[in-house]
Amino acid sequence: MEASPRSWRPRPGLTRTQRSREQDRAAGSASNRLVDVGGGRRGLASVALTPSGKTGRVSAVLQWTSDGRRRRLRLGEVDLPTRSANLREAWRLAGQTGLLVGEDTAGSWASSPATRASMRSNRSRDTKPELRLRSLLHREGLRYRVSTKPVPHLRRTADVVFSKARVAVFVDGCYWHGCPEHGSIPATNRDFWKGKIEGNIRRDRETDRLLTEAGWTVIRVWEHTPPTEALEVVRQSLAQPPGQPLRANGR
Ligand SMILES: [Zn+2]
Repeated sequence: MEASPRSWRPRPGLTRTQRSREQDRAAGSASNRLVDVGGGRRGLASVALTPSGKTGRVSAVLQWTSDGRRRRLRLGEVDLPTRSANLREAWRLAGQTGLLVGEDTAGSWASSPATRASMRSNRSRDTKPELRLRSLLHREGLRYRVSTKPVPHLRRTADVVFSKARVAVFVDGCYWHGCPEHGSIPATNRDFWKGKIEGNIRRDRETDRLLTEAGWTVIRVWEHTPPTEALEVVRQSLAQPPGQPLRANGR
C-alpha cells in the first residue's frame, strides 16, 4: 500500500511565501520554526514529507541551513490522512529534538496569549508513551496538569505535573535524551548530533537540579519504560515528601 498523495504532496503552484505560511501554520507560528545554528544565530527550519516505500507511511525530515550547508534530520514516519495533519505531527516530533529554540525564548517574543497558546499546543506533547501513562494515571483517579511549567520563571516544561504534591514527570524520548539502551548517534554530522544530544542531557540534569532545589520531586521516565512501571513510581512519590530525582527503569 502506497501512501496517499493527500497525506504528503504539497498543493501544486504554491509560491515561496505560501509554502512558508503552510509551515508556520503547522508549527504554530514562524517563531516555532527557529533552530539554533551556532554562534548565537538562528535559522528557519522546514519539514519535508515524502512517501516512505510501500509501507503506506510518510517520512518526515526537518531541514535547515547552517554554515552554508544543508542540514537534514529524519524525524520519523507519520501516518495521518492529510498533509496538514502530518506536517503538524512532524513539527511536534521536531519539538522533541531540542533543536527548536522557541521554548527558551518564550518570555521574550511570545507576547500575545494567542502566540503562547499555539506554542503550547505545538510542543512535543501527546506522544504515545506519554499518553499511555496519562491514561493510567487518570484511571487511578489521579488529577494532574499536562505540558506545563512547574515553576513558571524556570521555563522548564514537564509532561505531567502534580502541583499540590509538587511532583513533575518527564517522559524522555530514548533518542534525544540519550537512553543507554536505545540512544544512538547518526553517522552523518556525527559531531553535530553528539553535541545536541549531550546538550539535551546536560539540560535535563540542570532541570532536575533546579526543580529539586525549588522543592519538587522530579520523575524521569524513558519512552521505553512500561507505563505500569512508570505509574508505580509516580504513585510512590505522590505518597512521599519532595526529594531526589527518580528514574523509572534505571539510568
Ligand atoms: Zn530507551
